[in-house]
Amino acid sequence: MNRVYLDNAATTPLSEEVVDAMVEVMKISYGNPSSTHSFGQEAKALIEGVRRNIADSLKVQPAEIVFTSCGTESNNLIIKSCVEHLGVERIITSPLEHKCVAESVRDMKARKGVEVVYIRPNHQGDLSLDDIEKALQSSDKKTLVTLMHANNEVGNIYDIKAIGELCKKYNAYFHSDTVQTIGHLDLDFSKMNIDFASCSAHKFHGPKGNGFAYIRKSTKLKGMISGGGQERDMRSGTENVVGIVGLGKAFDLCIQNLEIYKNKIQEIKDYTIHQLIDKIKGVKFNGRSSEAENSLFTLVNVLLPFKDPLIGFKLDMKGIAISQGSACSSGAAKPSTVMLMLLTDEEMENCTPLRVSFSHYTTKEEIDKLVEALVSIQQDFK
Ligand code: PLP
Repeated sequence: MNRVYLDNAATTPLSEEVVDAMVEVMKISYGNPSSTHSFGQEAKALIEGVRRNIADSLKVQPAEIVFTSCGTESNNLIIKSCVEHLGVERIITSPLEHKCVAESVRDMKARKGVEVVYIRPNHQGDLSLDDIEKALQSSDKKTLVTLMHANNEVGNIYDIKAIGELCKKYNAYFHSDTVQTIGHLDLDFSKMNIDFASCSAHKFHGPKGNGFAYIRKSTKLKGMISGGGQERDMRSGTENVVGIVGLGKAFDLCIQNLEIYKNKIQEIKDYTIHQLIDKIKGVKFNGRSSEAENSLFTLVNVLLPFKDPLIGFKLDMKGIAISQGSACSSGAAKPSTVMLMLLTDEEMENCTPLRVSFSHYTTKEEIDKLVEALVSIQQDFK
């Protein structure tokens, strides 16, 4: 059976060029980047090359890019170190954040007594700038605002430029989880008041277990792992040279092909929406995910007009890999926090959310297979 992969917001397949680049490093550049001999310096040069390219693209300084093991580590490092080392006593966030942000915030509340303010979204998943400003105004405590750039379940894109401006006005730190946008959107951090951001290579055809944190130098954030002082003392531990080269290759390919991939994937997304509207009567879309503006082109979150808790399993039996939400919660029986926030009780009772997420490898034939499978599953409910 030819399997269909439509879960690219969970992870993407490695691109062939990335595999080739990593294999070459595995075979040749095995030095420890901290060693002063030529083997070590060769490995160090590879890492620094990747750091420079990423920094150039995001319009930041190379020293502001810290390689980590993933988006989760980057978000943990930033949030916890802000409390531990920068005197943050208050965090403004939203219930739509990825678990690694939500749990880091909860941990800081439980262990460090940090005050947490949640900005409530409306039913489309929008966050009001007025609400954010009111929250910023309401206390003199040193505050960190942590709000994601794009939501991994419904794809809403938030105006981090405007949020950054508000943070500047009220002298708060601003962290944005950019895991779903780095590698997909052209980001220029020099034009935004953003202090911290996070990235995960496996969301754009790079290796799992590799990411980076953007940490604005002037914040003087400190690392949380003690050891040999690698990554300018921000993240001790011998660097994963192979993974960093893979991340760098994947990043370069995405940035070079940004417009091509965007147009191709947007066409697939539009096709998916049209086919679903055409073939599944009563289908709806969650958040802003069916809109051209303010929505990731890489995913659409569908609300099927029938309740089927086994939908993921049934599609898998038909060879179609897809999630109902974030990979962290997709194995769980209970609906995700994001869906609970956005759907009405009636929708929760009678409908099934499904996240269809694309890459530039996705084809219209694969979408046809998905739609055909959904039509056949819907028959069971008639
Ligand atoms: N933040 C968002 C928005 C994500 O979608 C994910 C991954 O699902 C993460 C953070 C975690 O990234 P990683 O898998 O690299 O730990």
